[in-house]
Amino acid sequence: MTDNSDLAALIRAIPDYPKPGIIFRDVSTLLLDGPGFRATIDRMAAMVPADTSLIAGIEARGFIVAAGLSYALGLGKLMLRKPGKLPGEKIGTDYELEYGTDRIEMHLGQVQPGQKILLVDDLIATGGTAMAGIDLIRRGGGVVDTALFIVDLPDLGGAVKLRSAGVESRSLIA
Ligand code: 5GP
Repeated sequence: MTDNSDLAALIRAIPDYPKPGIIFRDVSTLLLDGPGFRATIDRMAAMVPADTSLIAGIEARGFIVAAGLSYALGLGKLMLRKPGKLPGEKIGTDYELEYGTDRIEMHLGQVQPGQKILLVDDLIATGGTAMAGIDLIRRGGGVVDTALFIVDLPDLGGAVKLRSAGVESRSLIA
């Protein structure tokens, strides 16, 4: 199967989480499935641009994707973390979520000037989280022109938002 419907079938939809009207795509069921997770990483790895030299993952589910991809491709990984978790000198960006606001932070000095970095997360909805990650990486001196997700919810406009910032959004399931 190549249309990834086998992987889509491993993700469950939970209505009214985290608030009424939101349908949450719960990837925990995909993560429980060993062959499904391996196929997820293998297929995502095939979508990574050849000139990528670092994988940036957004806490927390993005770390799981970033770890798998960095292992599969032999690349390093950069953690974009929730506030207060990074011990070293850092920069941060506040952003709006589909439901609420949040902030992510990145260590300074861990990106080389002009280094080509792939941003990854489990899912893109409005694109606010990914845009915050792109902002951090660019402020840190890195170059981001591609972002990769397991799931895209295209009705929420995230991929369009990223394109307007010069970033191509790729996903296994849309
Ligand atoms: P966005 O900022 O694009 O609106 O939301 C994407 C971020 O929120 C990602 O970090 C993602 O993990 C989380 N998120 C939002 N909605 C969902 C969802 O339905 N399922 C999952 N697994 N994550 C979601």
